[in-house]
Amino acid sequence: MPDKTLICKDCSEEFVFTEGEQSFFKEKGFEKAPVRCPACRRARKQNRCESRGGKSYGSWSFNGTGCRGGERK
Ligand SMILES: [Zn+2]
Repeated sequence: MPDKTLICKDCSEEFVFTEGEQSFFKEKGFEKAPVRCPACRRARKQNRCESRGGKSYGSWSFNGTGCRGGERK
């Protein structure tokens, strides 16, 4: 599997979905490629979704649906 270049959903920057990450995803049973670059994923992780129950999806987040309330003050 060659590396793939993807476009980040958040910042529209290109990022590389490496071969190693692709096999990691496959191992975990994920079919979809990540939608965010590592920087945005990290930012989201730090700004973790803590609303109602705060379900964890591990270190990868695939979409923003169901994660609301991060901006709550
Ligand atoms: Zn990004």
